[in-house]
Amino acid sequence: MMRGLCYSAVSYAPLFIERVAVVIGDTMLALRSTAELASIAQKVTLIAPTHGELSSSMGQRVLEAKNVEVLEGFRVEAVLGDEYARKLVIAKGDDKREIEADAFFVELELEPQSEIVAHLVERDELDRIVVDCANRTSDEGIFAAGDVTNVVAEQVLIAVGEGAKATLTAHEYLLQLPK
Ligand SMILES: Cc1cc2nc3c(=O)[nH]c(=O)nc-3n(C[C@H](O)[C@H](O)[C@H](O)COP(=O)(O)OP(=O)(O)OC[C@H]3O[C@@H](n4cnc5c(N)ncnc54)[C@H](O)[C@@H]3O)c2cc1C
Repeated sequence: MMRGLCYSAVSYAPLFIERVAVVIGDTMLALRSTAELASIAQKVTLIAPTHGELSSSMGQRVLEAKNVEVLEGFRVEAVLGDEYARKLVIAKGDDKREIEADAFFVELELEPQSEIVAHLVERDELDRIVVDCANRTSDEGIFAAGDVTNVVAEQVLIAVGEGAKATLTAHEYLLQLPK
């Protein structure tokens, strides 16, 4: 990790200005990362295991970008390199290829571990806990924060801020409870 294999285009895309990058994934996260990298990199190849969100407006933008190549239906079989990741082995049926690049961004969607409260609070279609702007869930007295919620952007700064907000709201909730 961090030697050619990256997990956050939001954080590391600026290191690859005018360079060659690969993005792996087929969800909105992968498309956002591809669009972001395409605005600065020389070339971006998107390895999309399925059609995923390619029909969305972000997907169309990615498909039309001159410096983006979309390889739909390919799966990653191996990452090859020395002290640094240098190439990917990808395959679609019998079609096996090796792709060289300066960076490989793994941009697969996160899997929220929210089962523990599945019977208590509302979750969205991705199993993220639904919260309002004060981190209240659908059940009074239960608050949630961070990547496991439906708040936008999976980033440390956001999660920390949301955690602080949730704590304040929970504290206020306790203060107004009858003695
Ligand atoms: C590979 C990778 C690279 C990243 N790079 C960056 C980056 O460069 N910059 C950036 O800002 N963000 C980055 N992120 C995102 C960032 O890590 C997250 O946004 C942040 O950690 C979210 O914090 P959180 O507290 O909501 O969740 P987490 O940090 O995921 O913490 C949740 C915790 O809950 C625990 N847990 C889960 N289920 C249970 C259970 N039933 N009982 C008890 N404990 C449980 C988990 O073990 C975990 O420790 C990256 C994420 C990944 C995966």
